[in-house]
Amino acid sequence: MTTIAFIGLGNMGGPMAANLVKAGHTVRVFDLNENAIHQLAEQGAIPCHTSCGAVAGAEVVITMLPAGQHVRSLYLGGEEKGGLIHKAAPGTLMIDCSTIDAASAVAVGEAAAKAGFEFVDAPVSGGTAGAAAGTLTFICGGSNEGFKAAQPILSDMGANIFHAGGTGAGQVAKICNNMLLSVLMIGTSEALQLGRDHGLDPKVLSDIMQVSSGGNWTLEKYNPCPGVMPQAPASNGYQGGFMVDLMAKDLGLAMETAGQSRSATPMGALATALYRQHARQGNGKRDFSSIFETFDRDGDA
Ligand code: NAD
Repeated sequence: MTTIAFIGLGNMGGPMAANLVKAGHTVRVFDLNENAIHQLAEQGAIPCHTSCGAVAGAEVVITMLPAGQHVRSLYLGGEEKGGLIHKAAPGTLMIDCSTIDAASAVAVGEAAAKAGFEFVDAPVSGGTAGAAAGTLTFICGGSNEGFKAAQPILSDMGANIFHAGGTGAGQVAKICNNMLLSVLMIGTSEALQLGRDHGLDPKVLSDIMQVSSGGNWTLEKYNPCPGVMPQAPASNGYQGGFMVDLMAKDLGLAMETAGQSRSATPMGALATALYRQHARQGNGKRDFSSIFETFDRDGDA
């Protein structure tokens, strides 16, 4: 069993750290929110008062933070400010599971390598339900050695673990996937509404498209039209699931990454605009399938 420092105990990090405790690891936890530390301590983790305190004596560091600036500042911070790469013991494996811009992952990875550490970017797919169930998909970037060392720890929190390539590749693969998902969700929504506007039953239309050439993951698992799929967020007031704010954040990262490589992503750009507008209309905390309501308006036809 391994001694693991887990930093960032929010909606995702909390249940992920709890699964590491359940798997028998010694888990030293820290978050800026004391309540989150307390909750994990009640589940058997060791509460720590600072990030450096959590890292003391740990063989592996895992971070699950909101965005690139938090990850850069925690790892790089400057010697006097206690950046983890200045404080961790030699040989500590560093794994960042946050969804951040690839450039930040590369910057932290390079600084870690210079200081003699393996760093793996390992963003996840699967949401809070996957985090709680221990069935997340991890999409990793880093060296073969780093990936091999991270794999057994990640498998205590997830079901699928991929090695996408070198440092930053995990972040690039993750935002490619989420950009595609946003486009599929919007396309599925407008197609379903087009059918409804012409009197079709959305359940019948969904059944047809699912086994036809328009079939896709959103039709199979996450239908955006209320009433078609009882378990989907659409049939539950668009509560739970994956928030519009997070999709808008991931699309922002996708556009930034596309800009760096001068990649043409017109569908992604349109999806970004639609999700930003949807968030600004007060839907930020609702599930991302609520974009369906953009199309579900009474028309003039
Ligand atoms: P969250 O806001 O619930 O949790 C983030 C936690 O980090 C908070 O508890 C915050 O206090 C803590 N934190 C911030 N800065 C810190 C610091 N310097 N030291 C210690 N703790 C610090 O966010 P979340 O939903 O858990 O998401 C975390 C990451 O996972 C994000 O990058 C997000 O995009 C990604 N993600 C989220 C989901 C989801 O469904 N929620 C799914 C996939 C990926």
